[in-house]
Amino acid sequence: MSEEIKPDEIVNFLKPRLNARFKMWLNICARCGLCADTCHYYTAHGNDPKMIPSYKVRFLREILKKKGKVDRDYLQKVYDTVFHECNMCRRCTLYCPFGIDIALMISLTRGMLFSQGIAPEGLVKAIDNYKEFGNQMAVTDQDWVETVEWVEEEMAEELVGLKIPIDKKGAKIMYTVNAREPMFYPQDMMEVAKIFYVAGEDYTYCSKPGWDDTNLAMFCGDVSTSKLIVENTFKRAEELEVQQVAVTE
Ligand code: SF4
Ligand code: SF4
Repeated sequence: MSEEIKPDEIVNFLKPRLNARFKMWLNICARCGLCADTCHYYTAHGNDPKMIPSYKVRFLREILKKKGKVDRDYLQKVYDTVFHECNMCRRCTLYCPFGIDIALMISLTRGMLFSQGIAPEGLVKAIDNYKEFGNQMAVTDQDWVETVEWVEEEMAEELVGLKIPIDKKGAKIMYTVNAREPMFYPQDMMEVAKIFYVAGEDYTYCSKPGWDDTNLAMFCGDVSTSKLIVENTFKRAEELEVQQVAVTE
């Protein structure tokens, strides 16, 4: 975590993003508590009122009121709530009579914290890896392609004639993975190869960034990296002229 909190940066981050929808949500919450029972954190914590969805987004209101002048202890409390007491499932929104999107407000708050260098270390590392290597596990494109080729070789003994296409133009499906698979679980790729083989599907992997579709930036509210990840996938799909993208994550 960086030590210095910059109130101006906090306000400059939040203001342009707090559009009419957010402002309306912050103003119209009737504190009726109907969303309480919908949240698994609330029920799992013995109906702790601090876990009521509408209560978890109070920080946005408070931070704006204080014009971003908050200290690190306060932001630590915000961090604990938005990263550890809500998984942005959106169940509460379905039950709120006004459709207030708590998850989106939590996401915005996460993004604000991220802009101040406050986010879970593992997520920050995964984001940095994506920006540098084009995947969250820092696998080079060469290692990725070699892993696919190795999986193909391993499988060929069991399933004669099995091929795992890479960059096959005009394939029906572009299949993407979690970068953990080539890194730690190539056996998962073997199972997938088997399924495609037996199904007789026309698919391909791509060799350039876009093959790892895990969007961990989304969980930090890091919209620009999150967008980059989606764009890479679409770019590859367009280049390969596939009809569908299969995303397992
Ligand atoms: S159900 Fe909607 S209006 Fe009621 S407390 Fe929850 S967020 Fe506010
Ligand atoms: S979005 Fe968050 S607050 Fe709402 S039900 Fe899911 S975990 Fe609970």
